[in-house]
Amino acid sequence: MDFSLTEEQKALQQKARNFAINEVLPVAKKYDESEEFPMPVIKKAWEEGLLNLGIPKQYGGLGYGLIESCIVVEEISSACPGMATSIFDNNLGAEPIIIGGNEEQKTRILGELIKEFKLIAFATSEPTMGSDVAGMKCKAEKDGDEYILNGAKFWITNGGFADYITVFATEDPEKKHKGIAAFIVDTKAEGVKLGKHIPKLGQRASNTVAVSLKNVRIPKDNVLAKPGRGFVVAMQTFAHTRPAIGAFAVGCARSAMEYSIDYAQKREAFGRPISNYQAIQQKIADMYKDIEAARLLTYKAAWEADQGLDNNMSSAVAKAFASDVAMRVTTEAIQVYGGYGYLRTYPVEKLFRDAKLYQIYEGTSEIQRIVISRFALKGYKHAMPSVFKRDRV
Ligand SMILES: Cc1cc2nc3c(=O)[nH]c(=O)nc-3n(C[C@H](O)[C@H](O)[C@H](O)COP(=O)(O)OP(=O)(O)OC[C@H]3O[C@@H](n4cnc5c(N)ncnc54)[C@H](O)[C@@H]3O)c2cc1C
Repeated sequence: MDFSLTEEQKALQQKARNFAINEVLPVAKKYDESEEFPMPVIKKAWEEGLLNLGIPKQYGGLGYGLIESCIVVEEISSACPGMATSIFDNNLGAEPIIIGGNEEQKTRILGELIKEFKLIAFATSEPTMGSDVAGMKCKAEKDGDEYILNGAKFWITNGGFADYITVFATEDPEKKHKGIAAFIVDTKAEGVKLGKHIPKLGQRASNTVAVSLKNVRIPKDNVLAKPGRGFVVAMQTFAHTRPAIGAFAVGCARSAMEYSIDYAQKREAFGRPISNYQAIQQKIADMYKDIEAARLLTYKAAWEADQGLDNNMSSAVAKAFASDVAMRVTTEAIQVYGGYGYLRTYPVEKLFRDAKLYQIYEGTSEIQRIVISRFALKGYKHAMPSVFKRDRV
């Protein structure tokens, strides 16, 4: 077992850190306040090779594994979680094509994302469902070799600026997961309407919109997964992208901890820096150990995906754990800052607002716990004999 990063990974981390410090951090507050989409930053990320990290080499990509994606997004998220979400969204949008696309689709769409600055979003959620993916209502009606889509998608990250959206829709809502198919939707196609940005609590630099689909004709070449297969593609996509949410959360929490250390060493109360008080030291210690654990779980889930192993469980564990860590650490960071933590003067209130999203998108913390408890109760192999096989006194 080797926990160290390779020289290439360290160089990539440094590159992403430089980008985060020089391009993201200086404008994080501005975009948080304006809720504008940070297009120049996202474009710069593409120019620097920090977008589309997961695209395999044979389609023109850099061929990075999920570990490398996690290394990069931890850095970007530490400067601005909202921009990290928007930068990684191309991975989320492209992943169903990597997992479920045919050679022609991979060559065409993935190749295009590398050659040109294009955004690709991902859409399972609808106004009436998010967690219950099998309960989607957006209709996919077969018409010869083509499909016609009708329905609405909601909360679509980068949707307002996307060139493509991988859209999941059902041939019949009654069929639940067995009816779900997936499509590559060109947002310029007739019948696609991208909504206006929806204001949010945090991660305001990420664009969030509703998408309306009215008689949108999907050519044969853009059918990604036939009914039934779409649900599997969506679930496999989440298993590959949830570790990155863990890494976002680690980056967000890491900055909240660092800002807490800065402040605690400077702020005086009762004649001494507050870092001299054990109550504050214990908070910093908890932050540090929780961030370490969250990063290790995240790397394990990413490593399993990179090895081609089933990482469904490890990604649920990493996402649930790291999201809770980000929420806990940012909450405690505000406490370390006292009254100043509650003001917009320092960045900790932004990180606190930004962190909340990790417990919600790409499967809520409750849904991750359902995945984990199902395994613990049914799939997990006990090491010890059953308690009921032991003598009782
Ligand atoms: C900013 C933002 C960006 C997003 N980006 C995208 C995107 O790009 N693409 C996309 O497709 N979606 C996106 N989403 C949608 C996101 O994935 C959903 O919001 C999320 O899955 C939760 O679904 P919901 O909001 O419908 O909540 P619901 O499913 O209605 O759940 C409400 C509450 O009930 C709980 N709950 C639900 N079912 C159960 C259960 N069986 N047991 C216990 N508790 C349960 C949930 O955990 C939650 O606490 C985004 C959301 C946000 C807020």
